[in-house]
Amino acid sequence: MSRNQELFDRARGVIPGGVDSPVRAYGSVGGTPRFMVSAQGAYVTDADGRDYVDLVASWGPALLGHSHPAVIEAVVQAAQRGLSFGAPTAAETELAEEIRSRVPAAEKIRLVSTGTEATMTAIRLARAATGRDLLIKFAGHYHGHSDGLLAQAGSGLATLALPGSAGVPAPIAAQTLVIGYNDRAAVEEVFRAHEGRIAAIITEAAGANMGVVPPAPGFTAFLSEIAHRNGALLISDEVLTGFRSSRSGYAGVLEAAGEHVVPDLIAFGKVIGGGLPVAAVAGRAEIMDLLAPTGPVYQAGTLSGNPVAVAAGLATLTHADDAVYRTLDAVAHTVADAASAALTDAGVPHVVQWAGTLFSIFFGESVVNGVPDYATATSQDADAYGRFFHAMLEGGVSLPPSAFEAWFVTAAHDDAAIGRIVEALPAAARAAAG
Ligand code: PLP
Repeated sequence: MSRNQELFDRARGVIPGGVDSPVRAYGSVGGTPRFMVSAQGAYVTDADGRDYVDLVASWGPALLGHSHPAVIEAVVQAAQRGLSFGAPTAAETELAEEIRSRVPAAEKIRLVSTGTEATMTAIRLARAATGRDLLIKFAGHYHGHSDGLLAQAGSGLATLALPGSAGVPAPIAAQTLVIGYNDRAAVEEVFRAHEGRIAAIITEAAGANMGVVPPAPGFTAFLSEIAHRNGALLISDEVLTGFRSSRSGYAGVLEAAGEHVVPDLIAFGKVIGGGLPVAAVAGRAEIMDLLAPTGPVYQAGTLSGNPVAVAAGLATLTHADDAVYRTLDAVAHTVADAASAALTDAGVPHVVQWAGTLFSIFFGESVVNGVPDYATATSQDADAYGRFFHAMLEGGVSLPPSAFEAWFVTAAHDDAAIGRIVEALPAAARAAAG
């Protein structure tokens, strides 16, 4: 028996499903999850001693590659000074200033530990600021696992084909109005039907938890305009896209396309912790100042702004310069082009979709004209992806174990790593063809 299998069997005896986050269990692609023991640059190594070129990147944070020397050095130095103080540190301000320098709409920033906390707090702030309760969310967008945000939420729920979660009280679920992404008429209709009652629209800056589904040109500006015309706020969730899809997140991609959108509140996560737990809620100063201790909205965290985690995030952002984003862009395009060419050669219908440097590939006849929303995303051929996934794994490449996720490259994917991906692709494409 493989060591991975042994560890999985043992884990299932004490951890539900053997994993601490559902998608890790390989549920939708089948097989035994790889238990990782180390990660370096573009590679991860499993418990059987096999290494893989990694296209998961810890689901986003490992922007510079795993165990980047500058990040490790910052973490070691911070750890030697103390693991946690439960008191403010200068580094928290430095990280907040770095975020604001890249995303001016983040006038004030509160650090938390997970993206879930960031969106949960953004919604509480929006409700406090507007005195209203209802929230608009888009089908297929994932904003973490707080009660009100699990309806048609993409990510693991899409992978497991779950409409939502058990254990959410109906009155709480009823506060969230779920509509189709990129559907202007649906947004207009819901504002008409619930006039004066909607606190906010929450949207992924670009959909990336049902595969990558960017907003149609002008759609995000439309959301901002209709929200404000109706006295509601716009919350942009950049937990996944932030500091990955561009130097200043998807806001930067929109800006470069001439679409100027200033969200009222923004959620960040993943990259700003560089692999340790840091996330943030940010936005307009007068709304952010509603947070305790200046305002009446309560939010707190024993480990918020943890010094070791903040050191990792700050080192990551400090090193993520223009050259890093050029590398990410080049690597992403090389990998996507090679995968698309291999799939075409094998006769597998597919489409590649982009959000800045972030991409994913949808499989199947139903997606070839593009995927604008969740209904189309869920029509994809997830079985073909499963076969492709396993053949890539066999070839030494670790892809996300779900058809509903982005492919994450890092700045450490060099020619050797890309070469291994390119070598593995033809067999994987043939496997996908069935
Ligand atoms: N928002 C988005 C867009 C995400 O992709 C995620 C996680 O994947 C979250 C929120 C939740 O973040 P976390 O897993 O840190 O709670």
